[in-house]
Amino acid sequence: MKLFVPDDIEQYAHDHTTERPPLFDELRERTYADVPSPHMQVGRIEGTLLQLLCTLLGAKRVLEIGTFTGYSALCMAEALPDDGELITCDHDAEVAPIAQSFFDRSPHGSRIILRLGDALETVRSLDEQLFDLAFVDADKARYPDYYRAILPRLRTGGLLVFDNVLWSGEVLAPASDDARGIARLNDLVQSDRNVDNVMLTIRDGVLIARKR
Ligand code: SAH
Ligand code: CA
Repeated sequence: MKLFVPDDIEQYAHDHTTERPPLFDELRERTYADVPSPHMQVGRIEGTLLQLLCTLLGAKRVLEIGTFTGYSALCMAEALPDDGELITCDHDAEVAPIAQSFFDRSPHGSRIILRLGDALETVRSLDEQLFDLAFVDADKARYPDYYRAILPRLRTGGLLVFDNVLWSGEVLAPASDDARGIARLNDLVQSDRNVDNVMLTIRDGVLIARKR
C-alpha cells in the first residue's frame, strides 16, 4: 500500500492523534510479529477517526467487514454503550482467534460478535435490525455488492465507510479485479442520490457516505 502523504508527515499526524490504550500497542506488535500483511491494520489515525464517527453518531449497532486481527473493531467498540453491538466478519480462520483473544482482554470486547465466513453471505443472512455505521475493509472486488447489501440495513443518517478507495492510486486506471471493484463502488456512491459522500485522502483513501 502506497501512502500519499510523506512518511514524516504521516508520523507527525500519528503523534498528534490521541494515544490508544496499551492493549492496542500489544495488538500492533503481535500482528507485525506473527501475521502476513500486517500493514492492513488500520492503525491509530484511521482507528481513531472510526471511533470518533461512532461517538458522534451515538452509534449502538455497528457492522464491520474485514476483522483481521481486530484493531478497527476494538476502536469502534470503545465508542459503543454497554448494550451496543458490533458485528465483525472475516473468513480467515488464522486471524480470527487472534482478534478474539484481544476482544476477550478488552473491557469493551464483549460488545463484539465475530462472524467467521464469507462476509457477503453473512451480511445477506442478517436480520432486519438496522445499523448506525458500517465499515467495509475486505473483499475489494465486491465492494459494490457490499454497498447494495448494506445500504438497506443502514438507518437514515447512518454512515457507510469504505477503506482503501484510492487503492494506491490504481483507481485512476484500474488494472485488477480489486481496483475495478473499488472504482465501480466510488462511481456508484457518487451517482447515488440516496447518500451524501466525501472521499478523504487519509492513508489509502476513505470514502464516507451518509444515508439520506
Ligand atoms: N480492519 C482491519 C483490517 C482488515 S484486512 C484492521 O484494522 O485490522 C481485510 C480482512 O478481510 C482480512 O482479514 C481478510 O481475511 C478479510 N476478507 C477478505 N475477503 C473476505 C471475505 N470475502 N469475507 C470475509 N472476510 C474477508
Ligand atoms: Ca484497509
